[in-house]
Amino acid sequence: MTEDKWTQLREELEAEREETLGEIDRFRAVLKYELDADPEEGDPDLYEREKTLALLRNLEEKLHSLTYALAKIDDDAYGKCEICGEDIGVDRLEALPYTAYCLKCKSLVEKGIVFSRTRELAR
Ligand SMILES: [Zn+2]
Repeated sequence: MTEDKWTQLREELEAEREETLGEIDRFRAVLKYELDADPEEGDPDLYEREKTLALLRNLEEKLHSLTYALAKIDDDAYGKCEICGEDIGVDRLEALPYTAYCLKCKSLVEKGIVFSRTRELAR
């Protein structure tokens, strides 16, 4: 991987991390608002609340993956598959900069053939 590509991916990861943090704040505010809502004013919409919670969980997992990927850049371990140790490949990293697996291992993890200690990173 070239130095330029490295820098570019790092910048993308950092920008996405900022964005994800902002979204998490927004969803947390929505949840708090829903919690503070006066129950007298109607039934709390549990379905909506579940949906918001699920979105928030996804965002938190994404944030975790982004932070992890950035830490790996600092450790010079970025771009290597967590399972087989092969290069993940620039094409895949460009499409999904915070992925921790090569395409082959990702599909093994998804099929449950390979157990991942960092299951939430299996993207
Ligand atoms: Zn792999």
